[in-house]
Amino acid sequence: MTEQLRPMPTDWRRALAVVAHPDDLEYGCAAAVAAWTDGGREVAYLLATRGEAGIDTLEPERCAPLREQEQRASAAVVGVSRVEFLDHRDGVIEYGLDLRRDIAAAIRRHRPELLVTLNHRDTWGGVAWNTPDHRAVGRATLDAAADAGNRWIFPELTEQGLAPWSGVRWVAVAGSATPTHAVDATVGLERSVRSLLAHRTYLEVLTDQDPEEYCRTFLTGHVEASAERFGGRPAVTFELFAR
Ligand SMILES: [Zn+2]
Repeated sequence: MTEQLRPMPTDWRRALAVVAHPDDLEYGCAAAVAAWTDGGREVAYLLATRGEAGIDTLEPERCAPLREQEQRASAAVVGVSRVEFLDHRDGVIEYGLDLRRDIAAAIRRHRPELLVTLNHRDTWGGVAWNTPDHRAVGRATLDAAADAGNRWIFPELTEQGLAPWSGVRWVAVAGSATPTHAVDATVGLERSVRSLLAHRTYLEVLTDQDPEEYCRTFLTGHVEASAERFGGRPAVTFELFAR
């Protein structure tokens, strides 16, 4: 029998999802977010960029406000009203102290028990190469979970009034080729389709398919692919790093 994924922990109140680009969470995670907010949990989004390099035919300065607006609409569909942007440059995010400090600062502001991020590894599995932005933000988020709790690593944050927060208990990595846990996607699936669909400008450039059909086909296939490892239920999968 295929090894089964365990249910994600539910004994928490606040989550912060940290990703590189608008649409990173909508390509697979939003159904889980919908289930969490349905259960009365608070989820906030932190995006390292505004995705301004994502559309070939649109200059970054025109693209950024548009994608920011679409991201906020997309978050609202799954019950997320707090969406913040760090203003790193799309496509050339550097892993390093600046990124770790920015994420640690956000963790101290939001005080989450659960962090969510996107695949930090070189590939999506096999030979499907990941992007440098995803790798940088994923790794920095895993690191910042500890940075946020140590007053001596970024003392300038304490001087800015951000007290250390060592309450992060897990970092859940979405899009991992080696998942360990899952959330049942049944209830949130339809909203996850509408959440991805909110990235209308991006999708219209990406595909000639009807946007709604594209979103539904992609997301349904995605959650059904993991069902055999989650008791037959469609699943949003995570690799969970406990702390
Ligand atoms: Zn991305």
